[in-house]
Amino acid sequence: MTHLGIGLIGTGYMGKCHALAWNAVAPVFGDVPRPRLAVLAEATQELAEKKAREIGFERATGDWRTLVTDPAVDVVSVTTPNAFHADMAIAALEAGKHVWCEKPMATSPADAERMLAAARASGRVAALGYNYIQNPVIRLIRRLLDEDRIGTVNHVRLEMDEDFMADPEDLFSWKSEATSGYGALDDFGVHALSLIRVLFGGVRRVCGHTAKPYADRPTREGGRRAVETYDIATTLIELENGASGVIALNRSAWGRKGRIAVQLFGAKGAIAYDQERMNEVQLYTAEGIRETQGFRTILAGPQHPPYDRFIPAPGHGLGFNDLKIIECRELIRRIEGEAAHLIEFEDGIRIERTVDAMARSAHGGGWVEVS
Ligand code: NAD
Repeated sequence: MTHLGIGLIGTGYMGKCHALAWNAVAPVFGDVPRPRLAVLAEATQELAEKKAREIGFERATGDWRTLVTDPAVDVVSVTTPNAFHADMAIAALEAGKHVWCEKPMATSPADAERMLAAARASGRVAALGYNYIQNPVIRLIRRLLDEDRIGTVNHVRLEMDEDFMADPEDLFSWKSEATSGYGALDDFGVHALSLIRVLFGGVRRVCGHTAKPYADRPTREGGRRAVETYDIATTLIELENGASGVIALNRSAWGRKGRIAVQLFGAKGAIAYDQERMNEVQLYTAEGIRETQGFRTILAGPQHPPYDRFIPAPGHGLGFNDLKIIECRELIRRIEGEAAHLIEFEDGIRIERTVDAMARSAHGGGWVEVS
């Protein structure tokens, strides 16, 4: 095992999260050599240098194209706004680097297909930032399903709500530009679909509706700019296994901070989970006498790997950034040629095709088959 050389493009919300993961993966897991933080790229040389000093990268550049061809870089973290993902990931793959690209994979199905083709041609690992699937509690839900604890699942409901775009007077940002994609569908919908993917597999068909809660937003320069994306999306879904479901998404949902509410209803019970209480699973099994039936709470602990790598005590809780550290370990596993719990471009393309079907249904009406 070698010390991987890391290139990081972007140092915002997700760039910091990747940087923390690359810094922590060796001490947390204890079974991988510490990655070398080689090169960091930002929009300007000045910002890149400031961030490289803060985070601890050896070199900095204001030109991401020099990072992806740098011989010291083995893996490129792409954590820039959505519109950059395709160009950056493809350039990195063509330069022979492994890629860890934030979701959504791309802002159009054509770009996502180009990314998949580049990944196949390169033979490198091309993984996506679907950190929520890494929660030990999601792995526990998968185990409960495998053990048939709630019977055949007939109905799945996923809601993802946050309020970072709830205030109509907040400034226009790249998230409201059409260049970033459809809006809630590829910002949140892809996360919901990543959970469906690891718990159940694919989606067969969808029937969607999207909405813009606010027509425009103020700009930094003064005046207002029309909002081009849809911050609300509601979609009926039918899974490949026949279960029916709903995915409801809202980036302007006052009061909701990080809600990913999952409800799974089966023939023998139900499972409920919410990312706002990410260390808990609610399990209901229709067993015993009816008078004592009810949901019970299972708290995450070292019996739910890899929680044990972080904390020896149960119920103390992992956090959002820890999921990225777990994802980072899975990525390294995959680079080493082992099987890994990871959504790569090969699977990510199915999520992109589902999002595209959701958008087409929302605009054209009616049910749309996922290609
Ligand atoms: P952000 O605006 O906080 O950060 C983006 C960074 O990219 C900024 O530091 C910006 O300066 C930099 N950047 C812009 N243009 C650049 C260029 N040409 N070269 C180098 N750097 C450049 O955005 P964010 O919230 O971190 O989102 C980034 C990506 O992460 C998005 O695709 C988003 O969907 C994804 N994301 C994923 C999760 C998750 O849970 N996996 C959460 C939030 C965001």
